[in-house]
Amino acid sequence: MTVDCTACGYCLPCPSGINIPNVFRHYNDITLFDDPVAPKGGYGFEVMIGMTAKASDCTECGQCEAACPQGVPVPEKLKEAVGALE
Ligand code: SF4
Ligand code: SF4
Repeated sequence: MTVDCTACGYCLPCPSGINIPNVFRHYNDITLFDDPVAPKGGYGFEVMIGMTAKASDCTECGQCEAACPQGVPVPEKLKEAVGALE
């Protein structure tokens, strides 16, 4: 796993509208399936239909990181995800 996210959702809602666990699912799928194309397409589709704001919309407010029981450094990992998915 690239990001140790269990999709528990405790970090939600994000004030910027980012569906954090979904973004991490797509990001992790790149490694899991050794496929950078399909996860990028899936992420782009979810942005297009309004299921999530873009990961690059993160303002680094830190609210999610404080709420995450897994200790995921969310804003830092979202920046990595932007590089892979946007
Ligand atoms: S740090 Fe980014 S992802 Fe986390 S709640 Fe704030 S805007 Fe949302
Ligand atoms: S709180 Fe942490 S483990 Fe839970 S969905 Fe958010 S990032 Fe993932």
